[in-house]
Amino acid sequence: RPRVLSGIQPTAGSFHLGNYLGALRQWVTLQDTHDAFYCVVDLHAITVEQDPKTLRQNTRVSAAQLLALGIDPDHATLFVQSHVPEHAQLSWVLQCLTGFGEAGRMTQFKDKSARQEAQVGVGLFTYPILQAADILLYQAHHVPVGEDQRQHLELTRDLAQRFNSRYGRTFRLPEAYIPKDTAKIYDLQDPTSKMSKSVPSGVVELLEDPKRAAKKIRSAVTDTGREITYDPAAKAGVSNLLVIYSALTGRTVDDLVAAYEGKGYGDLKKDLGEVFTEFVTPVQDRVRQYLADPAELDKVLARGAERARDVAGRTLARVYDRVGFLPAR
Ligand code: ATP
Ligand code: MG
Repeated sequence: RPRVLSGIQPTAGSFHLGNYLGALRQWVTLQDTHDAFYCVVDLHAITVEQDPKTLRQNTRVSAAQLLALGIDPDHATLFVQSHVPEHAQLSWVLQCLTGFGEAGRMTQFKDKSARQEAQVGVGLFTYPILQAADILLYQAHHVPVGEDQRQHLELTRDLAQRFNSRYGRTFRLPEAYIPKDTAKIYDLQDPTSKMSKSVPSGVVELLEDPKRAAKKIRSAVTDTGREITYDPAAKAGVSNLLVIYSALTGRTVDDLVAAYEGKGYGDLKKDLGEVFTEFVTPVQDRVRQYLADPAELDKVLARGAERARDVAGRTLARVYDRVGFLPAR
């Protein structure tokens, strides 16, 4: 079975609709057809300042959400990045292969560092290289992510290719697996920028009170027109709501547009609030159940880490050998 790997940061307690529709939904379906490795990337999280207690709790909350959304730890390998030291180890080797200018071209670094008020750490700069290590350690065929990760995936492929041509074929070149319709979910208050954990404005969180989420949806920024049509250029806000609605219900955007003919934005928003509530209520119940037994949750993650280390360790051993490190024996 082909391999798939993906990760998600535990930076905020809750995932948001963009994470779910852009990535996590695909994680769930791919675990049936692929040998799947999914990790909570806590090493990535500390590229911006984290409170230690909160980070630890958010890591458990993240794992609980993945389970609640349908990741089955008997089918997929679910683990925490810091439990597998090979990620940091391979990352160092890859950093030594990365050009300074090459890393500096990453648009996400430019955006995030520009936004950040605190001093920008080197970790934020080298973040995509750690991400490349995450992927290459598992020889993944596919990497289910949102559109914002496309450039990082390209860097991963470049680094894999560079290593292979310098040291001999070692890494598989992974391909991004980006959904067509929901690759980029937009912020409800600013429908021209992506919904993001690190910019909390119009973000719909999976773990917030559904009543509050419905209210956010009702006050989503739209345009001054009246007609409900799909037109991302002229009607970014309404189009974003249609995409979300369609993804959560399985109804096509065309079908929704036809159904809302003659109705107003308010109707669409109110109904979408209900659709979201219906989707998220059982998810929240399951998250609460998983969090009620943290020891069991930790056990699931320990099992995942063991399986992950088995694969990651083999790749790293080959890499260390190829670059010429003296074996430790
Ligand atoms: P941050 O702002 O801290 O980077 P994030 O919201 O981007 O957080 P990540 O943990 O970096 O969350 O991303 C997890 C996954 O969710 C990635 O695959 C990413 O591509 C996807 N994703 C994030 N935001 C969106 C979005 N608005 N639309 C679609 N996919 C998204
Ligand atoms: Mg991100």
